[in-house]
Amino acid sequence: MNKVEGLNILTFDVEEWYQANYPRIKVEQDNLEDEFLEKNVQKILDLCRLFQVKATFFILGLTAEKYPNLVPLIKNSGHEIACHGYRHCLIYKLTPLEFENELKKALTILERQTGEKIIGFRAPSWSVTKEMTWFFRLLKNYNFLYDSSLFPFKTFLYGEKNLEAKPFWMEGLLELPPSTLTFFRFKIPFSGGFYFRVMPYWLIKKGIKKLNSQGIPAIVYLHPREIDPQSPRLPFPLKERIIHYAGLKETLTKLKKLLKNFRFTSIKEYFQLRSFDK
Ligand SMILES: [Zn+2]
Repeated sequence: MNKVEGLNILTFDVEEWYQANYPRIKVEQDNLEDEFLEKNVQKILDLCRLFQVKATFFILGLTAEKYPNLVPLIKNSGHEIACHGYRHCLIYKLTPLEFENELKKALTILERQTGEKIIGFRAPSWSVTKEMTWFFRLLKNYNFLYDSSLFPFKTFLYGEKNLEAKPFWMEGLLELPPSTLTFFRFKIPFSGGFYFRVMPYWLIKKGIKKLNSQGIPAIVYLHPREIDPQSPRLPFPLKERIIHYAGLKETLTKLKKLLKNFRFTSIKEYFQLRSFDK
């Protein structure tokens, strides 16, 4: 029997409640002090401990810098630390050099705080496309082993059509797009963020079962703010407000059901990747 049969991948993007990249909407609150992030990360860690689950936490360099206890806390709880960039900026709007500077800054902080080489990356707001080969080559140059930045569904902000929603190799890196399910011939995402929040649990469950029956792990992704309906809200117009906040009340309950019904682990453990001391 395959050791990873029925095993899925759990990930969190660690950033603050005000991190968003919608076109023409400016969000500048980087220095705001509040208790929400640390409280919600602790809630996630408690949940993982309860269900004996390991996860991968993609962390912003800026966030790790602002909350220096966060990375050690997550790592010491047995989870994998990966990189979500330094600031939360759209990579397709940066030059390769600008991105490299962001990456270096984030890596310096995350590797200092973990004492380990960081091997995984996820772009803020899935802001990478397959055509951006320089991005993948750059990650490879910095000895990353995997990336999870491509989104297999086209939206106004990110993603692309014709991308397989299962792990594949991309420019020498393991690429891990989030999962999709097929609904009347349409591929729709269901395993994280807005899609997870608005999708009924029975459909999420069905989607994961289908993937697992094909030997494919579901890749679940959530943000700390998504398990907390009490966290503050940005004054968005209607469309962005729906995308950002729909289904918040049910997300924690759905996540608990998910952890009860399925087996999950981190990316590093799923693929048995090895890191080395920095
Ligand atoms: Zn993010």
